[in-house]
Amino acid sequence: MSTMKCNRCGSEKVMTNLRVQVGHNPAIGARGQDLEVEVQRNPDALIFKQTQKEALRATVCGECGNASLSVENPQALWRVYTERKDS
Ligand SMILES: [Zn+2]
Repeated sequence: MSTMKCNRCGSEKVMTNLRVQVGHNPAIGARGQDLEVEVQRNPDALIFKQTQKEALRATVCGECGNASLSVENPQALWRVYTERKDS
């Protein structure tokens, strides 16, 4: 991990596996929620859409701010994606 370099500026100040949150608002005591990517196995179903959600994690350069996102557990999403019922 420490050998990672920013692909924009070449800096080695790269922070990995950072949480990406929405809704964090200390003023009203609201706790943030991880941004997630979701895939639904059965999107047309009324109730049992069988949704798989995985949290996003960010990699951010501490020098220029270059940021990229990745999913924590992509294999689980892919599994659901390939089993999806198309309509
Ligand atoms: Zn950078």
